[in-house]
Amino acid sequence: MDLKNKIAIVTGSRRGIGKAIVLALAKAGAHVVVSDINLDDCNKVVEEIKAIGKEGLAVKADVSNNEDIKQMVESTVKRFGKIDILVNNAGIYMQKSLTDSTEQDFDRILDINLKGVFLCSKAVVPEMIKQGKGKIINITSIAGQVGFANSSAYCASKGAIINITRELALELAQYKINVNAIGPGVIETPMTKNLLEDKATKETLLANIPLNRIGKPEDIANAALFLASNKADYITGITLFVDGGWLTH
Ligand code: NAP
Repeated sequence: MDLKNKIAIVTGSRRGIGKAIVLALAKAGAHVVVSDINLDDCNKVVEEIKAIGKEGLAVKADVSNNEDIKQMVESTVKRFGKIDILVNNAGIYMQKSLTDSTEQDFDRILDINLKGVFLCSKAVVPEMIKQGKGKIINITSIAGQVGFANSSAYCASKGAIINITRELALELAQYKINVNAIGPGVIETPMTKNLLEDKATKETLLANIPLNRIGKPEDIANAALFLASNKADYITGITLFVDGGWLTH
């Protein structure tokens, strides 16, 4: 898949799935903006992009903050002149029962996971319209398709991403902007480290995965690479679940 000279922004990409997506896009030829709330780690990812022979730009941006997002887009256009690909990856997870969850917990998860998709897409789309095309990839979850106990706000946010993906696909098709989502299953990242360190929990999770392994960030990056490429030009509005078969039963 050839992304030569494409310009991509990946949010929440200092580590985990976002970082794997950055490196996959760069290996396919893209120059990538590494955006997260911790700039030091973003700079380290930029060094890895440079080692691949591509350009990177580290940008400190909180996806729930509209001013940060506007600046992220401005600095991307200033440096690279255009934006071809946006990956809305930034997200947080909180495992809490409904009764323990506070209104602030709910607002924070929705602000980052869902409003972040809205704000970043809104800021980037005018640049894609100028280009006459673009690819937006939203990272949802199997938790957007089925319920997971003690994760009410997370499930709500990820379910909404699946439907905003359909809506944006419909609205932006006229500009040849494809909008798709990826729904990861259980992936080994810092987000799931504590869960997976518990042997019993890991066994229970594996029992739900027909392919019988925990996913790797690269499994998600491969799907993102495909959806960002011209091989996926006729695909829009879908959620591609990359879950080892979790949702088959
Ligand atoms: P991760 O390792 O925690 O990486 C997420 C990154 O996003 C972190 O660097 C995090 O920074 C950053 N972030 C948090 N809040 C942000 C904000 N307001 N603005 C910008 N960046 C922010 O998680 P991951 O597992 O790679 O997850 C990536 C995406 O995949 C998320 O949307 C997640 O919901 C989704 N997902 C993951 C799994 C899984 O099993 N890992 C499964 C399904 C879906 P801090 O660490 O400083 O908060």
